[in-house]
Amino acid sequence: MCRHLAYVGPPVSLRALLYDPTHSLVRQSWAPRDMRGGGTVNADGFGVGWYPPGGGEPVRYRRGTPIWGDVTLPGLAAATTSGAVLAAVRSATVGMPVLDTAVAPFAEGPWLFSHNGVVRGWPDAVAALAGRLPVRDLLTLDAPTDSALLWALVRHRLRAGEDPAAAVAATVAEVAAAAPRSRLNLLLTDGRTVVATAAGHALSLRQAPGAVLLASEPHDDDPGWQAVPDGRLVVATTAGARVAALPAG
Ligand code: GLN
Repeated sequence: MCRHLAYVGPPVSLRALLYDPTHSLVRQSWAPRDMRGGGTVNADGFGVGWYPPGGGEPVRYRRGTPIWGDVTLPGLAAATTSGAVLAAVRSATVGMPVLDTAVAPFAEGPWLFSHNGVVRGWPDAVAALAGRLPVRDLLTLDAPTDSALLWALVRHRLRAGEDPAAAVAATVAEVAAAAPRSRLNLLLTDGRTVVATAAGHALSLRQAPGAVLLASEPHDDDPGWQAVPDGRLVVATTAGARVAALPAG
């Protein structure tokens, strides 16, 4: 199952987030500590999205190949600094394709999105939910995967002007109701606020003055990491994080 992280805080290099920690996301790609529901490594791709320090929409770099073998990312990560980052490494669910476009972060406008988990009974279990989307959205999914459909469902609510935390919570509730036992750990950010769910998978939170980091696994031994219990919705900014119960589906 994929591993992901989101950071908002003082500008840091992508290298400091992705490579330098003792249990960094790059290390988690081949030695994750907490894989659930199958899978041993996260070798089916990686993606990084970051907000340019000068402002503007996020930039992404995604590939459907292992992060550890990418020859471009180390230099890019050393040279790039950002105060808001969302990154993921992917272990494709059995039956789902390995493609550059199947890797998070998914994006539109100011938004970056990631899913760690699986929709059970895919795709039939969520046919009715998918049917509520405009056909154009279905025909232009990033990839024929559960994660891309989850993004389309959240994005549909964001486009309608819903509050991001409400859009994420409602999507988790309706997918959990349609596809019980799904694992629906989501991350959504606009570069200022991070909305995260713990729904079937591990999630950890680290807060420091003016900075917050959410990650599938703590990436170092800092005692400041807190495990977020299952069934929670986290809304975090540089001012702090609020953890609430996810509404039931
Ligand atoms: N099910 C999603 C996919 O295949 C996410 C995978 C994961 O969390 N491992 O892309």
